Amino acid sequence: MPPRPRPRARKRPARARSLDSLRRALASLRARGERVAFVPTMGALHEGHLSLVRLARRSAPRVVVSIFVNPLQFAPGEDFRRYPRPLARDRALLAAEGVDLIWEPRVEDVYPKGDRTRVYVEGLSDVLEGSSRPGHYTGVCTVVARLLNAVQPDLLWLGQKDAQQALILERMCADLLLPVEVRRGPTLREEDGLAMSSRNSYLSHAERQQAVALSQGLAAAWILLREGERSAQRLAAAIRREWDGYPLVREDYIAIVDPASLEPLQRVRGHALVAVAAHVGPARLIDNFPWRAR
Ligand code: AMP
Repeated sequence: MPPRPRPRARKRPARARSLDSLRRALASLRARGERVAFVPTMGALHEGHLSLVRLARRSAPRVVVSIFVNPLQFAPGEDFRRYPRPLARDRALLAAEGVDLIWEPRVEDVYPKGDRTRVYVEGLSDVLEGSSRPGHYTGVCTVVARLLNAVQPDLLWLGQKDAQQALILERMCADLLLPVEVRRGPTLREEDGLAMSSRNSYLSHAERQQAVALSQGLAAAWILLREGERSAQRLAAAIRREWDGYPLVREDYIAIVDPASLEPLQRVRGHALVAVAAHVGPARLIDNFPWRAR
């Protein structure tokens, strides 16, 4: 069930579209010198997004959320056009969370006429998601660098659900000397374990039932790791075995990698990231868990 706006909204958030209106709104937000936390989103908000907003709220007195379906991070043939855009509902949800400012830029506000600048993080951008979605992380980094330059937040909140994205953006902020503290929030899940995602709405009833394979596969790997299994091959095989019971789930990748370099591991010696991607009907879903050496 998508989250419902809470009935009693707090003070309505300010809303901005153009850069000028964003800057005016930020100036009044910052009038008392309070810290600003920022949560960038593509809208179609669910509890996962809202959990980041709540973490942001606790981390700083002012919270800014952007809603922007970024064309640059979608390859031709991907779901840019049909990506859900329930704007009125999103605004109500953010109002109920007490967000101070919602920025809803148009494409031309983020990509000015004649735009040619791209941001690319070497070494991390072309594996896993980047290998299945060429150019995706250039799109992500380019937009987030621009959003950060426009909002100039003190804190940036990202979800562990998109672990590779979080890692790449952490790297980008450090490398570009951006004066922002990057924080990650944990993955929020549906009751059966499926990671919340705006793309879950693409699933039919039968596909939705089978989509649980992703988190169940990860749970199987987690149990094996806890029992002492260290072979990446055997961990991947356990996930694949789990998926065999779900004919609507088509593997894209199952990866056991170093969480900082994203290089594949043969054996799990310390920390690891176990990450999976699969097609389920019209949706391409991802999930992961970080394994921390005890
Ligand atoms: P998106 O709107 O998909 O671009 O996501 C915006 C932010 O929400 C990103 O930092 C995501 O990692 C985060 N996010 C998406 N799904 C979840 C989830 N299930 N739990 C926590 N954070 C999430």
